[in-house]
Amino acid sequence: LVEVRDVVKRYGPFEVLKGLSLEVEPHQVVCLIGPSGCGKSTLLRCINGLEPIQGGEIRLHGDRVSGPGVDVNALRRDVGIVFQSFNLFPHMTVLENVTLAPIRVRGVPKAEAEERAMTLLGRIGLDHKAREYPDRLSGGQQQRVAIVRALAMEPMVLLLDEITSALDPELVAEVLNIVRDLATDGMTMLLATHEMGFAREVASKICFLEGGVVHEEGPPERIFKEPASERTRAFLKRII
Ligand code: ATP
Ligand code: MG
Repeated sequence: LVEVRDVVKRYGPFEVLKGLSLEVEPHQVVCLIGPSGCGKSTLLRCINGLEPIQGGEIRLHGDRVSGPGVDVNALRRDVGIVFQSFNLFPHMTVLENVTLAPIRVRGVPKAEAEERAMTLLGRIGLDHKAREYPDRLSGGQQQRVAIVRALAMEPMVLLLDEITSALDPELVAEVLNIVRDLATDGMTMLLATHEMGFAREVASKICFLEGGVVHEEGPPERIFKEPASERTRAFLKRII
């Protein structure tokens, strides 16, 4: 569903991605792991068209979505992204946050968008907060709303960038539960995470990023138990 081929990404002279390739198949949950600064967030931003790339290509459902002539707005309709800091619109209620893009971008009638939003909020147990403003919600609740806001666009794939790392430990579980439920429902996801236990549990595939490429990839059982590469082993030893 998502094909990243030989992608090169530079910030000025500094090359972050050096010909990186990876694939996400439909209904897979692919976890990106790797040391801080290895380019996990950069890769997600490139896939979503938030950053231009300097080499290689990215395809979504077979269509090229990188390079000149690409409609980034169309791309962002199909690729949802949730960041570490929830960035809900503070001056809008939860319901307005969730319905804004479907109404404005997809042209869904307001009543229909609201009904759907309430269903989604109900599923995460936050329909009673629909009329509240984000600052009246806990961090975990805000992050769950941010996920629902991305889902309201019915994306083909969801990109999640360290969505639990700004949360107090006791709130992490409620956000991970949602991701777990989405995985069970067959949502295709690509996520950057430092939560190795969680990656091990939900991932169909782990990609270890280092040196600007996918240094090693494979099913979690293998990567965590018997990494082929010494570097992967050293990284996991440090972090677990
Ligand atoms: P972390 O695990 O800490 O989130 P990461 O793997 O997500 O790290 P990135 O945020 O993708 O890493 O950053 C990769 C490299 O690119 C880093 O060295 C960072 O300093 C650099 N970088 C990121 N964004 C920019 C930018 N806008 N301009 C210049 N350099 C940047
Ligand atoms: Mg990052």
